[in-house]
Parts: sequence; C-alpha cells; structure tokens
Amino acid sequence: MGLSLYIGKRSTGGGGAAGAISHNSSVDSPPVPGAPSGHGAVGDFVQASGYYRPETMAEALRVLAGGPTTIAAGCTDLLAATQRRALEGPVLDITGVGALHGIEITADGVRIGAATTWSNVVRTDLPPAFNMLRQAAVEVGSVQIQNAATVAGNICNASPAADGVPCLLALDAEVELSSLAGVRRVPLGAFITGVRQVDLQAGEMVTALWVPPSGMGGTSRFLKLGARRYLVISIAMVAARLVVEKGCVAQIAIAVGACSAVATRLTQLEEALIGLPANATLCRAVSDDLILPALAPIDDIRADGQYRAHAAAELVRRALRDLTGEAL
Ligand SMILES: Cc1cc2nc3c(=O)[nH]c(=O)nc-3n(C[C@H](O)[C@H](O)[C@H](O)COP(=O)(O)OP(=O)(O)OC[C@H]3O[C@@H](n4cnc5c(N)ncnc54)[C@H](O)[C@@H]3O)c2cc1C
Repeated sequence: MGLSLYIGKRSTGGGGAAGAISHNSSVDSPPVPGAPSGHGAVGDFVQASGYYRPETMAEALRVLAGGPTTIAAGCTDLLAATQRRALEGPVLDITGVGALHGIEITADGVRIGAATTWSNVVRTDLPPAFNMLRQAAVEVGSVQIQNAATVAGNICNASPAADGVPCLLALDAEVELSSLAGVRRVPLGAFITGVRQVDLQAGEMVTALWVPPSGMGGTSRFLKLGARRYLVISIAMVAARLVVEKGCVAQIAIAVGACSAVATRLTQLEEALIGLPANATLCRAVSDDLILPALAPIDDIRADGQYRAHAAAELVRRALRDLTGEAL
C-alpha cells in the first residue's frame, strides 16, 4: 500500500532552504503520523510515515539504500506532477542536509550543492561566465518558486523546457551522483537521457553540480522566449558563453533548450565561430544551416516547430550581439 505525505504548510526556515518542508525528522527517528512539526508553526504537519528529513549525507544515503524512495527538494515540479496534495512515500526530503546547500568556488571548479535554490544563485557573487545562470534564475517562475525550487531539481526533472539546463550545458557542468557505494561524476549532457529521463541508478541522488575551471571563462548571456514576459514556460531559450582573446573568439559555448527532447549544444556552430573577430562579423556568421540540424523542435500548444526553430536562431544571434556589444 502506498504511503502518503500531506504537506500542510511550508516554512521559510531550515538550513537556508526557503520553502523546505518544515517537519524535522531523521532516519533514526521517523516522524509520527499526524504529529505536529517540531518548529511548532500552526498548520505545519505531515500526515505520513515514510517521510525522512535527515541532516547528514550519510543518513540521506542510508534512506535511499533502503529501497525505492522519492527524492524531494523544493517540490515545485514534484507536487505539480502528482496532481494531488499528497506524495506517495517513502519520501526523502533533502532540504535539511546542510552539506547540500550553497555554492562554493574551489580549486576544482564551482560546486553548486543539490539543495541550492534559484534565489541562492541570484544572491551569490559568481564569475561573469555564470551571468546566464543568474539571468535564467530570475526567470524561473516567480520569486516564490525561486525561493523553493532547486537547480538540481530542475535538471533531475529533465523537462525539455528546463531553463537551467542550457546554461549548465554551456558551463560544461558535470553532475555529482552519490550513493552508499560511492561518488561518480557524469557530464550533464550524458546525465539527461530523454524527456524526463536521467541516468540515476538505484540508491543514488544528485549531490552537486560542478562547473570545471574550463567552463568558467568569459562572460555569458541567457535569452528566453515565452508567450509573456514572466511566469512562462519557454518556447525556446538560448545560453551562450564567450571567451575573447586579442579581439577574437577563443572559446564559445552555445546551447538551445525547448527545441529538442533534451537541450543541446550547437557544436557545429561553435566550431565555425572559433577564431572569428568578436564583433558584428560573428553575428553574421550565424547561419541557420549551422543551427537547425542540431534541433528537433515539436509542435505544441505554445508554438509550432518551425516557429521554435526560427526563434532559436534569432535568440542565438541576439545573445551573441549582446555579448559582443555589436548591432546586428
Ligand atoms: C508555477 C511554476 C512555474 C515554474 N516556472 C518554471 C520556469 O519558468 N522555468 C523552469 O525551468 N522551471 C519552472 N518550473 C519548474 C520548477 O520550478 C523547476 O524545474 C525547479 O528548479 C525544480 O526544482 P525543485 O527543487 O522544486 O524540484 P522537485 O520538484 O523537488 O524535484 C523535481 C524532480 O527531481 C528529483 N530530484 C530533486 N532533487 C534531486 C536530487 N538531488 N537527486 C535526484 N533527484 C532529485 C525529484 O525526485 C523530482 O523527480 C515552474 C514550476 C512552477 C510550479
């Protein structure tokens, strides 16, 4: 029989994770069904067994090793996907694990903990290469969504329209996966294998996203097209990162989202642009022939495939125009 979790109210406290489910339990002391929250806030309660909110990685991984478990972060995709107010248990709420919060700049690159919210991204001082991720962050839903929703949840949900994915692809991001058996890292492009499909093995969870030093150069731009300005699912979006040396393109990374099952890097275009002057010449070199073969846009309620393809190409040109400071 499925266990159910009823989330009565969310708290803005708890390990810096605004929106964390506020019932505080541990692996060793599972919550009492229907018991009031330890925080004592009126209406904070969880009617469930099989709800775990550990504070350490070791405890979290032990819960996962116990069998199939729903991992819950900000729950902004998860609850929408259930179309109910209850989740089937067992549920592992990762927002209480301190080690999963925050962004660190290390010698090994930038580490984005799996419980880091979009609001954390906006508030963190990061190198200019991350401008696109911060620009995407303020476009994810509303401020309320950004306070609860995590970057890792965005990639694990694996929606073709996930705004974080093109940015992280253009940052050469890698996904850190942990289980009791150990830790492995895979490139983000290999982690997302299809629409709502990721390479997550039994007992594993995403513990961090890593941007290696090779992905931290230059400056970047994110552009999203939707049917309205805010609170909108992308019709197409583009993330571009440009490294200029002696006036020419030394490194370039361009990724497009919402125009294929999985967001994709435009490697053919990137190769064609290397070495060109970083000015209006660059924008003029962006031909549709170098973009469209990489995309497979679908027709849906938001746009048809042809419009999506046209929009993606235009967004690429505009992103490069912004990055080079040149008129088209
Ligand atoms: C009103 C609204 C507007 C939105 N607008 C946008 C938007 O503009 N752009 C956009 O991209 N998204 C948008 N979203 C979707 C959502 O907010 C984001 O995708 C968000 O980043 C998901 O993060 P989360 O922490 O809430 O994930 P959750 O809902 O907690 O989890 C999502 C999925 O990832 C899994 N998961 C979470 N963390 C881990 C982990 N560490 N390891 C393994 N699996 C994990 C969960 O099991 C679940 O399958 C919107 C959602 C809502 C409700």
